[in-house]
Amino acid sequence: MKQYSNDLASRQAVVQALQALGDKNLNKGTSGNVSVFTGEGMLITPTGVAPEALLPEHVVHMSLSGEVDEDQLTPSSEWQMHADVYSGKPGVSAVVHCHSPYATILACARRAIPAMHYMVAAAGSYGIPLADYATFGSKELSEANLDALSTSMACLLANHGQLAIGFDLPAALKLAELVEEQAHCYWGTLAIGGPVLLDKEQMDDVLSAFMTYGQQEKRRDLASGNKFNQED
Ligand code: 13P
Ligand code: ZN
Repeated sequence: MKQYSNDLASRQAVVQALQALGDKNLNKGTSGNVSVFTGEGMLITPTGVAPEALLPEHVVHMSLSGEVDEDQLTPSSEWQMHADVYSGKPGVSAVVHCHSPYATILACARRAIPAMHYMVAAAGSYGIPLADYATFGSKELSEANLDALSTSMACLLANHGQLAIGFDLPAALKLAELVEEQAHCYWGTLAIGGPVLLDKEQMDDVLSAFMTYGQQEKRRDLASGNKFNQED
């Protein structure tokens, strides 16, 4: 888990993440919001500020119960949804919410993404769930979101968009990108009769294969600051 704090580097990371959502076509205009957990509270994007106008000093530091530090802008209207993730899911350090096009199409049609491609397991589960509809910025939306995240690291928000969480910001961003890619794929299969779904046993095999996929040893060494063995 990455440790963020209320400093310039963490503020810059939040700004870059919101801008990256636009660059990756996952968001437009003032939609979407990004936060990181700082231990004492969170750093979150201000409400209604477009990514190109966002500066590190605009990022808002506040407690998880809603007290905003002095001399800060007004936080994202979705601050409660971000705060409740940090309170309810220990270890999570970053939350990314966006209105990416295909995830939003499915969310508006109220279609959760089933186990139609093995990569849905990268969200940690057998599919990408759909949170019940509630007004943006409401406590009800936050509750619906947390409920959907009980089985997953990402979800669709009915008639709204998507939300992804991670142990750091790059992981949450990467997952939001994956949700959009899977939503696009599912949307495409629906146009040609719908996908053939993977069964639980097949998905269990995927989940266990993920335990050893990639540069596991080297990733651990890099994370702990050790230089990995050049000979292997
Ligand atoms: P904010 O500008 O308040 O973060 O709201 C954008 C949004 O996506 C609301 O769900
Ligand atoms: Zn939104």
